[in-house]
Amino acid sequence: MITCEMCETMEVRFVHVMENERYPEQLHCGCICAAHMSGELKAAQERDKKMRSRAQRRLNFHKRKGWKISVHGNPYIEVHGNQAIITGSHDDGYQVCARGPHDRKHLSGKKHYASLPDAKKGCFDAIEFLERKQAEQAKRLRQSLLRSALPILPSSRRR
Ligand SMILES: [Zn+2]
Repeated sequence: MITCEMCETMEVRFVHVMENERYPEQLHCGCICAAHMSGELKAAQERDKKMRSRAQRRLNFHKRKGWKISVHGNPYIEVHGNQAIITGSHDDGYQVCARGPHDRKHLSGKKHYASLPDAKKGCFDAIEFLERKQAEQAKRLRQSLLRSALPILPSSRRR
């Protein structure tokens, strides 16, 4: 928990990082003050809701439906084609590997987790990372399609 840097009273759990030309630095504040700064309450509340729902999903991810055990005894889960698998690490903890639907190999994460529930949170993060990467790729693809679909204008016209 931090105290809202705007009103300096509200205890904030889900922090909105705000920038404004009137303030030289970024402000870490709560939903309401973020709304005042951005001038749009709705967007700030939406961000707040998203962060809360993400935190809730991350917290409950270990008991989500779909967890399986591989033939080698590794817990794994697949969400929309993105797979995350938990392996043992050299320090008796756990590591997470993940791959997207079109990846041939798993990428292994660098983080080490002391407990299985923690490693499962790591799986949430890994899948979220893949989803973000795929969303960015899809956006770039859409943009390039949009560019290529622009009408070709004649460079010169006969008079
Ligand atoms: Zn505040």
